[in-house]
Amino acid sequence: MSLVNICRDNNDPFYRYKMPLIQAKSEGSGNGIKTNILNLSEVATALARPASYLINGLHDPEKLQDSLDGFIEKFVLCPQCKNPETVLEIAPGENLQRDCKACGKITKVNPSYKLVSYILKNPPKDASKKQKKSSSGKTASANVIGGGKSISDIANRQQGSGSGSASGEDKPAEKVVVKDEDWSVDMSEEAIKARAKELEKLNIGEARAKYEDFGKWLLEGDDGELPNDVEIYKKILSLDIASDRQTVEVLAQVLFDEDIIEEIETHKGLLLKLVTDEKFEKSLLGGIERTIGTQHMDLVKQVPKILMALYDEDLVSEDVIRDWGSHVSKKYVDKETSRNIRKAARPFLKWLDEADEDEDDESDDE
Ligand SMILES: [Zn+2]
Repeated sequence: MSLVNICRDNNDPFYRYKMPLIQAKSEGSGNGIKTNILNLSEVATALARPASYLINGLHDPEKLQDSLDGFIEKFVLCPQCKNPETVLEIAPGENLQRDCKACGKITKVNPSYKLVSYILKNPPKDASKKQKKSSSGKTASANVIGGGKSISDIANRQQGSGSGSASGEDKPAEKVVVKDEDWSVDMSEEAIKARAKELEKLNIGEARAKYEDFGKWLLEGDDGELPNDVEIYKKILSLDIASDRQTVEVLAQVLFDEDIIEEIETHKGLLLKLVTDEKFEKSLLGGIERTIGTQHMDLVKQVPKILMALYDEDLVSEDVIRDWGSHVSKKYVDKETSRNIRKAARPFLKWLDEADEDEDDESDDE
């Protein structure tokens, strides 16, 4: 399941404010139809708004995401700078306003919106006292852990790849029944089918929780220091995720930054324990691709060196690198970034080919 930009007008794939796509499921028939939003609290957390505002603010079950976009436009984004890091406050005279933590602008919410009266009756917890310390105000940065590394993003993709039980029926951890009358609308079969299909891909459950735990644990060290590799390996064993590819993908995004060449050397012991076959080699490349594409675009020009380091340390085989280099994929980054990274890899791929030819030449001579 992919994350989408909170501000939908913003097409930048590296936009740091992201939220999960809203997931809904209908039950019943005729007038008894109810729409369940399966990931209501996730969406609410990403937006830093109480879930009840969403329940009362979303009115078109057939176009839930559009409806949510409207909510975001009216109650979350700063009209001045379009940043979602705003706090709802109630100013004297029962005026609901957004206080933008990014640009400082305070903007009144149009009082004619129906939801405004609900919010005034059910104010956000700290709205009455104007928050001066921006650290205590809850804004829409909840998705960003550790300076832009979004572990939930990885976990979300994990749901998509599905591991056996993908029905989604048995474990919607955040199932919330929306009883608002506006929801009791008959829904087209098509829309229901489309949502059911989305649901099949959902796999909210243990695996996901484990990666979130793992990611948080990695990034929550003192002074932003990572735990050492032995501690990391112990944690992986205790979470029982050593045999999951996603573990390698998470690590590649956490262990590496602009000093990746040295870091490959530093962490090769840990990585060699986990990268035990081609599957994991591909995940390692994918995780690195994602690190480059989402956090360190400046590393694109170093791709040949990175591949050489991985190859030298026996972390990734020639065949896997070749195969990776010949397919543009949007599994880890958007297509264009993927293409750019592979373009940058060409000198190394060429070097591999030439090394092979040399070998052939030598054997011909014998
Ligand atoms: Zn602003």
